[in-house]
Amino acid sequence: MKALVYYGARDVRVSEMPDPKIEQPTDVLVKITTTNICGSDLHMYEGRTDMEQGRIFGHENLGEVIEVGKAVVGIKVGDMVCMPFNIGCGHCKNCEAGLTGFCLTMNPGFAGAAYGFAGMGPYNGGQAEYLRVPNGDFNCLKLPEDAQEKENDYVMLSDIFPTGYHATQLAGVKSGDNVVIYGAGPVGLMATLSAQIKGANKTMVVDNHPDRLKLAEELGAIPIDFSKGPAVDQVLEQTNGLGADRGCECVGYQCCDRQGHEHNNVTMNELVKTVKATGSIGVVGVFIAQDPKAEDSLQKTGHMDFDFGNFWMKGQSMATGQANVKAYNRQLCDLISSGKAKPSAIISHELSLEEAPDAYKHFDARDNGWTKVILKPGKQGSQKKHVQEREAVTA
Ligand code: NAD
Ligand code: ZN
Repeated sequence: MKALVYYGARDVRVSEMPDPKIEQPTDVLVKITTTNICGSDLHMYEGRTDMEQGRIFGHENLGEVIEVGKAVVGIKVGDMVCMPFNIGCGHCKNCEAGLTGFCLTMNPGFAGAAYGFAGMGPYNGGQAEYLRVPNGDFNCLKLPEDAQEKENDYVMLSDIFPTGYHATQLAGVKSGDNVVIYGAGPVGLMATLSAQIKGANKTMVVDNHPDRLKLAEELGAIPIDFSKGPAVDQVLEQTNGLGADRGCECVGYQCCDRQGHEHNNVTMNELVKTVKATGSIGVVGVFIAQDPKAEDSLQKTGHMDFDFGNFWMKGQSMATGQANVKAYNRQLCDLISSGKAKPSAIISHELSLEEAPDAYKHFDARDNGWTKVILKPGKQGSQKKHVQEREAVTA
């Protein structure tokens, strides 16, 4: 089969790879029809992780079941399914508690497994024609009748929609809250949508990319462009100097200051300043334990210069981590099915698998208009239909 393979920093290619096979009686094989490029893929793409060469990328996957192992009972050939990016076993202490992002058995020695992900187990990703799904009954969400019609919405259930929702859960967003969200990438935009769903009062979204901020505004947020002035001042002005009730970190360790220099503490320290005393902060942007390629010496060891004194003085609280996608994907699926949520609104590019290497370049550069790329492995040729629409919007 054809698959998008990692060869080294900023070197991914579509290569011929062996077709996956049923390895365990609980496995399911899926023919991938839509698979997304994620901001998390970029950490690996840029060579900032210990991703091994030869692995297939892709953890945001949707497709049609083509084969099931003998022990699979709930999933049938022909079902349209969307897989959470986390791979869970379903029966460990964490999976039983709904914390499938921290499964204790699928990646021994570490809590959490995922497809095509550095440090998250040996599993290949789904930016490919086919994918092996371990524990298929547990890890496949069977989609409703309108699966094909709303495929571009449902594929967001694999990661960014539940992850954005998780950011608002970790932050404790309730109706009437003022919420500040750092990052208007796909995850920040889905946190915006989730805050709207939860009935937030003001949702303020911080970024410096006008095209992304425009999308945030379309989703009902107040855009805060930090290239036009310090974000902290703008958020405090929006909240009568008090700060937001809740804050969401949707950027991660590669966040940048106003001069464009990467410092892993920028967003966390700004959240301490822009969230009110006793407010709470949810951190879904990725921070890593080892970052040897970072320029900053603290950052190399995964540490940061965090403003803990002010965090403590303000009596704030914080929660972090990978999203437990399975804790949310059914409910969010229902919101899509009933038309109450349309996460596909942020898609900028719908491309073939062959176009993936070029798409990685543009998405990595955060080029204007490249907000969210989805790939259609079964289809040939370019289908950049969303980009024209988006350019028309941003023009
Ligand atoms: P992305 O890289 O496309 O978006 C990040 C955005 O943050 C960019 O638009 C960038 O301009 C902006 N940014 C940079 N510095 C900033 C600053 N100082 N203030 C405000 N905005 C700033 O990525 P994405 O796909 O939206 O993902 C965001 C983060 O979430 C990444 O770290 C990704 O790895 C992580 N993630 C986590 C989970 C999880 O389960 N916790 C799941 C998916 C993605
Ligand atoms: Zn992702």
